[in-house]
Amino acid sequence: KKYVYYFGDGKAEGTAQMKDLLGGKGAGLAEMTNLGIPVPSGFTITTEACREYFKQGKRFPNGMWEEVLTHLKRVEKSMGCKFGDPKNPLLVSVRSGAKFSMPGMMDTVLNLGLNDDTLKGLIDKTNNERFAYDTYRRFITMFGSIVTDIDRKKFEDLLDKVKEKKGVKLDTELDAKDFKAIVKKYKELYKKETGKEFPSDPYEQLKMAIKAVFDSWYGDRAVTYRKLHGIPDDLGTACNIVAMVYGNMGENSGTGVGFTRNPSTGEKRFFAEFLPNAQGEDVVAGIRTPLKIEELKKRMPKIYAQLEKICEKLEKHYRDMLDIEFTIQEGKLYMLQTRVGKRTAAAAIKIAVDMVNEKLIDKKTALLRIEPEQLNQLLHPTIDSTANVKVIAKGLPASPGAAVGRVVFSAQDAEEWAEKGERVILVRNETSPEDIGGMAAAQGILTARGGMTSHAAVVGRGMGKCCVVGCGAININEEEKYFTVSDIKVKEGDYITLNGTTGEVILGEAPLVMPKLPQEFYTIMKWSEEISRLQVRANADTPKDARVARDFGATGIGLCRTEHMFFDAERIKAFREMIVSDTVEQRRKALDKIKPYQKEDFIGIFKEMKGLPVTIRLLDPPLHEFLPKTEEEIEGLSNDMGVSVRRIKAKIKSLEEFNPMLGHRGCRLGITYPEVYEMQVRAIMEAACELAKKKIKVIPEIMIPLVAHVNELKIMKDLTVRTAEEVMKAYNVKIKYSVGTMIELARAAITADQIAQEAEFFSFGTNDLTQSVYGLSRDDAGKFLPFYIDHKIIDEDPFISIDTEGVGQIMEIAVKRGRKTNKNLKLGICGEHGGDPASIEFCHKIGLNYVSCSPYRVPIAKLAAAHAKL
Ligand code: ADP
Ligand code: MG
Ligand code: MG
Repeated sequence: KKYVYYFGDGKAEGTAQMKDLLGGKGAGLAEMTNLGIPVPSGFTITTEACREYFKQGKRFPNGMWEEVLTHLKRVEKSMGCKFGDPKNPLLVSVRSGAKFSMPGMMDTVLNLGLNDDTLKGLIDKTNNERFAYDTYRRFITMFGSIVTDIDRKKFEDLLDKVKEKKGVKLDTELDAKDFKAIVKKYKELYKKETGKEFPSDPYEQLKMAIKAVFDSWYGDRAVTYRKLHGIPDDLGTACNIVAMVYGNMGENSGTGVGFTRNPSTGEKRFFAEFLPNAQGEDVVAGIRTPLKIEELKKRMPKIYAQLEKICEKLEKHYRDMLDIEFTIQEGKLYMLQTRVGKRTAAAAIKIAVDMVNEKLIDKKTALLRIEPEQLNQLLHPTIDSTANVKVIAKGLPASPGAAVGRVVFSAQDAEEWAEKGERVILVRNETSPEDIGGMAAAQGILTARGGMTSHAAVVGRGMGKCCVVGCGAININEEEKYFTVSDIKVKEGDYITLNGTTGEVILGEAPLVMPKLPQEFYTIMKWSEEISRLQVRANADTPKDARVARDFGATGIGLCRTEHMFFDAERIKAFREMIVSDTVEQRRKALDKIKPYQKEDFIGIFKEMKGLPVTIRLLDPPLHEFLPKTEEEIEGLSNDMGVSVRRIKAKIKSLEEFNPMLGHRGCRLGITYPEVYEMQVRAIMEAACELAKKKIKVIPEIMIPLVAHVNELKIMKDLTVRTAEEVMKAYNVKIKYSVGTMIELARAAITADQIAQEAEFFSFGTNDLTQSVYGLSRDDAGKFLPFYIDHKIIDEDPFISIDTEGVGQIMEIAVKRGRKTNKNLKLGICGEHGGDPASIEFCHKIGLNYVSCSPYRVPIAKLAAAHAKL
């Protein structure tokens, strides 16, 4: 059995492909060595050895230690010095390195192999006492804190005391004598803390450090991290032993970290920082401020040029942007690590497109390098990450981006303040449909209750508006207009900032930056379109939404909700009149007032969509959602209509339902009040005809909601066709329109073969479909779904990602049965899931024609659609 893999002198036993066995770091070191890049010699103990170690009750597997000793000899030979040799000592670093880099794994111990004897050798060899003692005290600190778990602060405190006494701030200002004194104190500390002398035998040190690396695999933090990221527990970690090179040998030495390209902008330029006369993680530790890499170019132009060459070589080889760690020892460069670098969305896009242009990767690879969800970062204003902010609470990050504004506690205030030009944040316990106006007027929305699919969250996402929900830490006093978080009181008019990407609530005005979409973004969108089969449409209720959708490249509107058009102060009056009417005549009179509004909206939307299809859903929600609630509203309505307050109240009472979501809504309204749907069809077709007369192309698709039985659709279709024909005749034009239905009830899905004979298209309303198939009330699920997810009873909120095993199967049935009786049936999805990458992949798989999502998610959906095909 081979447990140890060597690298050095331009040749390695491992390769980049052996991440499973050698871990990321080991594989990278091997690969760099094979590429002829200067790496200090060393070897990697495999993850298999680690697994064996645990199997045998924390004992090194047979033969492993012997192999370590053999390979240590090879390193000695390669470096021309000997481990534990008091004349010419070899020192090594011991570094953990699992397949996935993960916090919680053991930190690196540098300079291992030092003791009082080898220290002398190091002094003689380098003729640099200060360097040697600096190295020694670093080693004791790392070994003591990392391998034997002494609180690192205790070492630092001792160091600080010496600095204080001397009146200096930086380690670099200390001399050999100071470090000598520190080493003595450190050894005392070690003895006091562990009850043992500091181990002087280098081999003993090495054994202990390797064990510590293996043990860290089951450290609490590592275990938690793996659980959160779904990394299996049985992979084990590798352990790398690398000959030391010294960045702390003076001003012509140093250490640095960097990226082959700029990781935040993607700019193709070596991006790094370095610190002269420093070792290991001094750069990241933040004690001294590192220098920009341009400074290295000035000081050591040759090294800089060599680094640039290495970056180029690495990129050519890995065909990706990499991060690197390097050390310079007395004017000689060594590479100590490389791996694929993390990057922002903006950088990911630029790098992907640039690399295609540089012929490093093909378009498909480029698309796969960008996570659809990542694009969100680009599509909303964000908080300037360099700003110092005060976070006072944290809720659920319901809709990303950032918003700054003054706090208001009612939708009405939001609208009024916004009209006066104020930026406001609407803060409520929860929101409801009548808050829409205020929500639209606000910069952002904060609620104390509700989950990721609460009204506020869904509407917020739909509007592309920053929204934080379910922030239980805030206590709202609506009466007196303030909210509190522990002992902080935020009054109406005070500024707060919301971070919809993290859920943070920040006191005061945090500075925002609006990312401008780079050219490369549009290139990625173009490539996505070329590759994907699924079309991407948008859910848009207003001409403004429609414009955003088109700008982001939507190929149509998949859902235009007509009821959202009524939440304007004037319109809702007419609509209420309609609802409380007792007779058909009264109702028609009220409907006649509404029709012009609807028509105007449709004209606006059709115009924006420039000939792309627009699916319009006829009235869907239960009527009582629109009813007046306050005495004032009721009185107003009574005056307007000349109907007594008592009669109106009686009417309101009569409209109450026990279970409105399964009640009198959708096509059930259309069937019992045909004049309502008739008016809507008229408005749609008149708008279409008027535009057609002006030679503007329109494709209306009229959608009947909440159909359960084919007969419902039959009746509604007859009414729609009859009305449409009438309108076209009156205008004397012919336009192509279609009639279809939503599939949002289990019965409709199961009887899709019958329904498809009456429908030209199906659109899966997966919000309601999930609700009805799962028997899960969207408005109440927040009380227990989070518990289910925390306790792994289910993996994911079915309102966020399609429950493919349950709801998804029903969709598949509907697709199959529908297409069987109507092979031209067009299929789409318009629920919230239409913007969720995992759900989009599923939609692709079951053969839908399009997905429809909120306008701001169109780019995400487009990329996800391409990924689904790849
Ligand atoms: P991490 O996983 O935290 O990046 P590393 O094992 O890469 O830990 O070690 C951290 C730093 O220690 C490296 O960036 C490098 O500067 C330094 N280092 C590690 N091994 C050596 C070595 N053999 N010689 C010099 N410096 C080293
Ligand atoms: Mg580290
Ligand atoms: Mg590192």
